[in-house]
Amino acid sequence: MILTQKIMRIVLLGPPGSGKGTQAALLRDQLGVAHISTGVLLREAVEQQTELGKKAKSYMDAGELVPDDLVLGLIEERLGQPDVARGFILDGYPRNLSQAEALDSVLERIEQPVDAAVSVTVNESEIVDRLSRRAIEEGRSDDTEEVIRNRMRVYAEQTAPVAGHYARRGQLREVDGMGSVEEVNQRLLDTLENPDAG
Ligand code: ADP
Repeated sequence: MILTQKIMRIVLLGPPGSGKGTQAALLRDQLGVAHISTGVLLREAVEQQTELGKKAKSYMDAGELVPDDLVLGLIEERLGQPDVARGFILDGYPRNLSQAEALDSVLERIEQPVDAAVSVTVNESEIVDRLSRRAIEEGRSDDTEEVIRNRMRVYAEQTAPVAGHYARRGQLREVDGMGSVEEVNQRLLDTLENPDAG
């Protein structure tokens, strides 16, 4: 498909279990941009037992946000890599208002401002179903019932307000995240292709 008015620097927002990681990976291939997931970067750091990984692990296992300064270091380093010039999809960052402000400064400095933020919406019972399924399939240590509940609380309290940050600038779009992976993907492509519609 031909994307005429390309939006290439995207922040993908959505609760845990909204499928944004899956969608971000598809969009990476379809748009040829970098997929930057702080969750993936953090899990790699934990696996490699780096200093950052050691500090981050307890927060992740509890479903809390890793402290902003640690994640900012990680994201700054990633945004400094050359592939970012082709555009990017941020997945899992920013996760609170101060991260959103820090991101604005970093992107201003590298002259790569965000084109749009897309919020993937999913109803709560679907989220619980999906996360429980993923717990069985992937065995992620933060997919236990208690931690899932905490991640959802952290999302509602700290991350949901990030949508407002982009809405205030007229950059927020909402996409229905219910339905098949393909259906949601098509909605995202449509939204990104028609930045001024809806
Ligand atoms: P999900 O959104 O499905 O819960 P992620 O892979 O995005 O999963 O994140 C997993 C965990 O990694 C979070 O619960 C949090 O502890 C940590 N994390 C990821 N991104 C950030 C961020 N931007 N700021 C702070 N912590 C983060």
